[in-house]
Amino acid sequence: RPEILIGHAHSIHFFTRYLIAHGIDDVRFASILSTAETLLPAERRDIEAHFGPVLFDRYGCEEVSLIASECDAHDGLHVAAEGLWVEVLGGDASTPGRVVVTDLINRGMPMLRYEVGDLATVASGPCSCGRGLPRLGRVFGRTTDILYTPAGAPVSGVSILDTFLIHIPGVKQAQIVQDSLDHVTLRLVPAESYGQPSLDHLHRALDDVFGPEMRRDFEVVDAIAPTARGKFQFSICELDPAQIPPA
Ligand SMILES: [Zn+2]
Repeated sequence: RPEILIGHAHSIHFFTRYLIAHGIDDVRFASILSTAETLLPAERRDIEAHFGPVLFDRYGCEEVSLIASECDAHDGLHVAAEGLWVEVLGGDASTPGRVVVTDLINRGMPMLRYEVGDLATVASGPCSCGRGLPRLGRVFGRTTDILYTPAGAPVSGVSILDTFLIHIPGVKQAQIVQDSLDHVTLRLVPAESYGQPSLDHLHRALDDVFGPEMRRDFEVVDAIAPTARGKFQFSICELDPAQIPPA
């Protein structure tokens, strides 16, 4: 019996739901490491409700490996500053900025101010665990996940799903694709309780986030395929860069 489970955030969440659905209660771990995908607060709640407070979020990328990880205070992610210089451009405690890393120990192929393509906030002040390593607050995933309102205001795709899509009754999984500034397609994997109330709820949520002028289509599908690298992508921006208003 393994003591540690390491997995993609959504896979761990699916696994947890599988255990609950099948009444399997004797699979337990000393710790669970969530990595490679943005761990949503709703997923964390479900996982911790089942396994207890043993879930640790980690953030890294292929090029420099581990960038930051949670301690047992679970209050942001400590930067692996022993070997990495991490900057969050244009970000602070409340506004996500672009993550830029400089690898301090890779002498074979140094990465200097490499922009990972992710957005994160910065946690301020010391951590209650006593470690002095700086912290990221929350990692929001890829900058390419950003969608736009018809007026051109950026909206983080992950925050959309986090804020409302995960709570829509009758929807197991969803993905939002924007192909023009005033049109999105919502792909939905329906649960048994899917029906008109689900659609009403979705319309209201889309109105709230994008405004009523955002045209939308719903596409009911059996499954949403992960990307070639096995990650689940919530939001896909297919806008031509020329259509995106300057920040
Ligand atoms: Zn800490």
